Amino acid sequence: SRTYLVTGAASGIGRATAAHLREQGHTVIGADLKGTDISADLATPDGRTELVDRARELTGGCLDAVIACAGLAHFIPLTVQVNYFGVIATLEGLCPLLTAGTDPRAVLISSVAAVHPTDQAIVDAALAGDEDATVSAAQAAMDRGEGYAIYGSSKQAIARWVRRTAISDDWAAAGIPLNAVAPGTVVTPMTEPMLANPEIRKVVDASVPMPLHGHAHPEQVAPLLAWLTSPENTHVTGQVIYLDGGADAALRSDNT
Ligand code: NAD
Repeated sequence: SRTYLVTGAASGIGRATAAHLREQGHTVIGADLKGTDISADLATPDGRTELVDRARELTGGCLDAVIACAGLAHFIPLTVQVNYFGVIATLEGLCPLLTAGTDPRAVLISSVAAVHPTDQAIVDAALAGDEDATVSAAQAAMDRGEGYAIYGSSKQAIARWVRRTAISDDWAAAGIPLNAVAPGTVVTPMTEPMLANPEIRKVVDASVPMPLHGHAHPEQVAPLLAWLTSPENTHVTGQVIYLDGGADAALRSDNT
């Protein structure tokens, strides 16, 4: 049995993934704002430190896998602080614990929203590692009435970070596969209010075309996250794997 840390474990995809892993007999440490083993606000430096300190205490400094699901989709700067900087702090902060683990693996959640036109200033500032400049760029997008671009920008930036980081010394050279899963629309507390409103549902369905099987449920995402972080995954790394019913294939031409 392995020891996993799952962020966002109180709800939606993180919660379903924690349940799936526990059913398989693994030990799961959940982290979220509240309601799990570790309460930590990944938008703040203190919360990010708290996550790593508590994880070290609870595991004796040794983790086999990290699954970073915590995120939000509001059209405000906080979204990029959690979805990008909070996720990086999770993975970089827990990397030393993974190094001490057995067959260590990590995965995070991007989104098919990353393939929509995004705000380049937000993406560039995030990839440059400048949180203040990223928040300013997100605020500027909001002020222009383009706050909707913040979410997709956070998810594009984190997908690009995965590709750069997976092949670096801390990860590939340390034997740790690092990947992203990019879901289409998944029915969770994040999307339920949108899907319940017929007007918004129309916009969501138009922006995430789903040729296959309609909206996913979190239980259909969990097994892919589990496999990517299992010892069976020896060579998949630096990938953004779309679990989206074909939305990415429909949105992006086949020569990009
Ligand atoms: P959810 O809202 O059900 O769960 C997200 C969890 O993240 C919540 O429990 C929330 O408390 C936690 N969280 C939010 N801000 C946090 C913070 N500052 N610190 C710590 N935890 C925080 O949503 P979900 O649909 O399960 O989303 C999980 C991940 O999947 C997110 O990264 C989301 O962007 C991504 N995603 C979701 C969909 C979808 O359609 N639901 C699609 C693509 C990607």
